[in-house]
Amino acid sequence: MSSDSSSIDTEPRCPECGAEVHTINSGLTHGLQCGSCNWSVVTTNHNTLPFDETDYKIFVVSTASTRPSIIPVVAVLLGLSSAVIRRLVDSGEPVLEGLKAWEIKKLHRQFASKGIRIQIQPPFPWPLETEARQSVQADGID
Ligand SMILES: [Zn+2]
Repeated sequence: MSSDSSSIDTEPRCPECGAEVHTINSGLTHGLQCGSCNWSVVTTNHNTLPFDETDYKIFVVSTASTRPSIIPVVAVLLGLSSAVIRRLVDSGEPVLEGLKAWEIKKLHRQFASKGIRIQIQPPFPWPLETEARQSVQADGID
């Protein structure tokens, strides 16, 4: 029970043999393939990413000038109080963690529709829709 292992094992594993799997990423086809056995899963459906077991975190990107208007909007989107969101944003902590890929895509779209930029960790490997306006410009979390 070591509590200081801050690097979480986010590598996807083969459900059959437990070996590391690698990502297939060509055109519209996304999937995972095991290097040891014959297991693989491939999808062309961008709306569901059931094979991506990575836990993602999201950070709200804001500046001192955009923060006051962003915080209440984020609070409503996430169903949390403005005080909680303000504390997380001010301290540079993620506003949400433990999110799966499909949740990231949904949240990204919701945030983008409000003109709010988010940062995703670890880097998100799937395409994100950015059809909405991005009216809020910001440089970073600080
Ligand atoms: Zn395998």
